Amino acid sequence: MANNTANNTHSQLIYLDGHATTPLDARVLNAMLPYLTEQFGNSSSQSHRYGWEAAAAVKQARQVLSNAIGASSDDPSEIIFTSGATEANNLALKGIAEAYFQKGRHLITLQTEHSAVLEPCRYLERLGFEVTYLPVQPDGLLDIHLLAEAIRPETVLVSVMAANSEIGVLQPLGEIGALCRERGVLFHTDAAQAIGKIPLDVQAMSIDLMSLTAHKLYGPKGVGALYVRRRPRVQLAAQLHGGGQEQGLRSGTLATHQIVGFARAVELADSPEEQEGLAHQRQLRDRLWSALAPLGGIHLNGHPTQRLPGSLNVSVEGVDGAALLLSLRSQVAVSSGSACGSGKTAPSHVLLALGRDRALAAASLRFCVGRFNTEAEIDQVIDQISVTIRALRLGDFKPREIKPKQD
Ligand SMILES: *Cc1c(COP(=O)(O)O)cnc(C)c1O
Repeated sequence: MANNTANNTHSQLIYLDGHATTPLDARVLNAMLPYLTEQFGNSSSQSHRYGWEAAAAVKQARQVLSNAIGASSDDPSEIIFTSGATEANNLALKGIAEAYFQKGRHLITLQTEHSAVLEPCRYLERLGFEVTYLPVQPDGLLDIHLLAEAIRPETVLVSVMAANSEIGVLQPLGEIGALCRERGVLFHTDAAQAIGKIPLDVQAMSIDLMSLTAHKLYGPKGVGALYVRRRPRVQLAAQLHGGGQEQGLRSGTLATHQIVGFARAVELADSPEEQEGLAHQRQLRDRLWSALAPLGGIHLNGHPTQRLPGSLNVSVEGVDGAALLLSLRSQVAVSSGSACGSGKTAPSHVLLALGRDRALAAASLRFCVGRFNTEAEIDQVIDQISVTIRALRLGDFKPREIKPKQD
């Protein structure tokens, strides 16, 4: 395992918030550094060596990403570099809506998507598009039959995330892709949380567009990508206009160091060492759950097994959500719901969509056991959380019967 200093800065504060972001792996930083100093060229400068070096590094990174998601190895131009998954999602949703509006103006997504999908959808609704926000089952999974019923002749795009950013639930991408292909609808997936943690294959899963980001994967913040299928060719309208980089789909000088870091992060995640690390993270995640469950009144949010290896989201009965986070914040870096829209106190839209009531949705803890967490840290977190929950419950706590979600 790599030695990483990022986690040592706050020695008392144990970081378990990897759904929000992850520290930069030291090996990724080392790969990036030369491209900030000696090899600083603009990859579009084709008249001298500085430009060639940058272009070669970008080309190599494009190849790494293509390989990682099963894209066609002879056409790595299917990868469009962006500033992250938010931009990739915006490019996918707005770019498809704009390119295909004469064919149809209906899109389908899930109620549990990230705000970087939901907000572009709401924007498109204001422009006159129609969006169906499908509910999910109490375990967070999409019922494929609901999707089949929702597809209409005027539907142009289905957007379903690969792994949920709050509960880690993994949607059945292969089934969704096959259905979309059969019905002649494009399929986009936001795979920001999934890349490097579960197998992704745009061919086998019939995925037409896929959003990625580096910073959930021990890469740098500020870089991501959109995969756009070339065969059969997916039309896309650019949302940023300028110098015409990325085949005119995303203008702006490429951030070579960021792109190199992104590719290094993906390579590391796919290495046998880090794939084994995922099994270890799963064990620690299960250890945490096994220790918290006996406290009673602790509810697992999301499917018990169809989940990312490090993800654990629980609702804690009989405590105030804000008080729980406040009591833990000097010891454990976790969050309730998403980190986006910071300062927002509304209960998570994801947990509400699972059918949790507002109190349980508000009293939730979202854990992500990551690459640099140790068993000793997890044991410390178990102690701290158990003590905190018992203290906040004040003696006479009795778990209640939770009714299943009413559809
Ligand atoms: C983090 C995240 C995003 C946003 O990615 P950025 O690179 O921070 O813009 C989008 N979707 C999901 C599922 C995420 O987890």
